[in-house]
Amino acid sequence: MRIRPYNFYAGPAALPIEVLEQAQAEMIDYKGIGMSIMEISHRSKEYEEIHNEAQQLFKELLKLPAGYKVLFLQGGASTQFSMIPMNFLSPGKTGNYVMTGAWADKAIQEARKFGETVIAASGEVNNYMEIPSISDIQVNPQKAAYLHITSNETINGSQFHSFPHMDHVPLIADMSSDILSRPIDASQFALIYAGAQKNLGPSGVTVVILQEEIIRNIPAHLPAMLNYETYTQHNSLFNTPPVYSIYMVNLVLKWIKQHGGLAGLEKRNTEKAKLIYDAIDQSGGFYTGMVKPNSRSLMNITFKVHNEQLEKLLLQKANAEHFIGLEGHRSVGHLRASTYNAVPYEACQALADLMIDFQKRNG
Ligand code: PMP
Repeated sequence: MRIRPYNFYAGPAALPIEVLEQAQAEMIDYKGIGMSIMEISHRSKEYEEIHNEAQQLFKELLKLPAGYKVLFLQGGASTQFSMIPMNFLSPGKTGNYVMTGAWADKAIQEARKFGETVIAASGEVNNYMEIPSISDIQVNPQKAAYLHITSNETINGSQFHSFPHMDHVPLIADMSSDILSRPIDASQFALIYAGAQKNLGPSGVTVVILQEEIIRNIPAHLPAMLNYETYTQHNSLFNTPPVYSIYMVNLVLKWIKQHGGLAGLEKRNTEKAKLIYDAIDQSGGFYTGMVKPNSRSLMNITFKVHNEQLEKLLLQKANAEHFIGLEGHRSVGHLRASTYNAVPYEACQALADLMIDFQKRNG
């Protein structure tokens, strides 16, 4: 009997079994200190090693050029929605956003509280089932403080496959649901942020990777904990960081490195997603993908069954066979399979097989 379910949750989400096993082995006695890593000071040499190693691994995996810092914050990616305009949106400047769906919208709503916000391009005409083309993104470089994108829309299941580049406009990306899932040219971005609970580890830590240059003009009145400079100046140890989450992220980063780094993961993620997209595309309309093929996500595969009753039946059957987390987000309904880095190939194969078999019996 299979011990663990096939986990397709959108987040928190599957973690590599090897990582969980190592965490389990080290839970009570971390490297012979007789205590867990959760029970010792964040100023201890054991914790400091983990903290610095995780930062180093981000730099290595993303091939970050000199001048970038890796920061660990709390408050989820949602706090970044506010911190970005608080830190960078000065009077007379604009925060520019590509509106791609639910998460971009949340970022925009927060920015509006702090300054002038411009929608640089929007997928609304296509009901967010397509990422706007790069050439449609309009930004006034004289006024723009930054351009913000959501590289992967977790709810809709859409993803940027190339990134905009605007001279003299810092590019900021919410990569919460696709960070470290594929190689990117990190030097294109002034700031990348991600809540950890999809591709990086458990919830509790938000990773911010930023180019030091962009934090030159931060308003002095900001609360310390909401000011990026506090984190760069204190190596994210101004206050107590979420040590256990960072410990877990470090284990996941080592796992990613062992699995061929970002190129290795992209190959694996592409193969995994293809299994499910093929089951959709070869179904002759029994299943339909929710997103246009040019904007499909490798991380969140959204689809529907042509008949509502059958869709419910498929979900029931999937649940009975220990597939978990396949319900679409409550705002869009239907089905969603999240196939983050740690979701095994076998789970995607099993889901594709289930879909094909279900169609045979009910088509
Ligand atoms: N951005 C994206 C793309 C997300 O998927 C999520 C969480 N699902 C968030 C932001 C919000 O993250 P958090 O819950 O860490 O605030």
